[in-house]
Amino acid sequence: MRVRVDPDLCSGHGRCYVLASEVFHADDDGFCAERGRTIEISDELARTARGAVASCPEAAIRIVED
Ligand code: SF4
Repeated sequence: MRVRVDPDLCSGHGRCYVLASEVFHADDDGFCAERGRTIEISDELARTARGAVASCPEAAIRIVED
């Protein structure tokens, strides 16, 4: 599973890196440090990552289908 964080939509609410700190991290300005990137999610963290996808108020995180 892969997810992508849209750099234009991320507004720095921080829910992703609070709820899924193993996957997402904060940059110095409080935005998701992974914005603008597609990241690989391990099977073990897929459920956690999906929770962050669902909780992002801006719908900035989406699952990338192969
Ligand atoms: S929850 Fe969404 S808007 Fe907030 S920092 Fe994470 S990706 Fe950005």
